[in-house]
Amino acid sequence: MKKIIYIFALFLLVGCTNEQQAEETGKISVIASFYPIADFVERVGGDLVEVETLVGAGVDPHGWEMSTQDRNEIEKSSIFIYNGSGFEHWADDVIESAKETNTDFVAIESSQGLTLAEGHSHSHDHEDEAHEEAHDREGGAYDAHTWISLPNAVHQMEVIKDALSEIYPEHAEEFSSNFEKERDAFLALHERALEAFEEVKRKDFIVGHESFGYLAKDYGLTQHGIEGASSLGEPDPKRMAELVELAKETGLTTIFYDPLGSDKIAQTIASEIGGEAKELNPLEGRTQEEIDANLDYLAIMQKNINALSEALE
Ligand SMILES: [Zn+2]
Repeated sequence: MKKIIYIFALFLLVGCTNEQQAEETGKISVIASFYPIADFVERVGGDLVEVETLVGAGVDPHGWEMSTQDRNEIEKSSIFIYNGSGFEHWADDVIESAKETNTDFVAIESSQGLTLAEGHSHSHDHEDEAHEEAHDREGGAYDAHTWISLPNAVHQMEVIKDALSEIYPEHAEEFSSNFEKERDAFLALHERALEAFEEVKRKDFIVGHESFGYLAKDYGLTQHGIEGASSLGEPDPKRMAELVELAKETGLTTIFYDPLGSDKIAQTIASEIGGEAKELNPLEGRTQEEIDANLDYLAIMQKNINALSEALE
């Protein structure tokens, strides 16, 4: 009996890695860094891929730390796909060591080729060292939240499509047709958003976590962050007073917060202006509610666009 339990425990320990699961099902095993990347890989790979996401559901990737187990898993894996542009501050290091130990290892930086926008620095004097370091490594204060723009997301899916097609040329046709279908859906939503934002009265919006820069740029809007480029920042009273002033001047009554973070500061500002705080999801992850409702990247973007255009009416 003891032996059986031991074997069973051993099976639980070693028997359930993504790589092995994929081997059993004949699927291509991919490790994605965090939610939107996993969504993109699944769209392009369809039934051919088995995707594992490193940053767990409901976890804020800014505060995420890699465990030894995560590190081992990446090093053993053959395909690791990440956002890049400095968002995953831990990526360079693990990619380097995986390449040293595993000759099959391929890392795909999905944001490669995108033109990065400068990040805002007004609230960078908080303790968000990880994010700061990532910015420094990129040679300047760039905004790494590339995926929040629909055209950028299409670009990132295309990078993933090209890379997977190179590794698995026998599936290139399927990856291409999956990609084209998704690209059309993403760009259709982008067109609807362009129309919606063309009609809004206000162009400024206030968000807790300054992660909508690329979306704002797409639609001629300006984001004003309360907490800076990371959801882990703390606002200073001066910044809050500025934003209260801005809301009063522009007649804004909705203050947005990241559902993976805290709504406290957005609520404080909202109550000062007699407005309300609402969710705007920068898609660094999904809430349990969104997972239960089966909302994916595109559905959450649709919700974001609706909420934002309503607030700016
Ligand atoms: Zn962020």
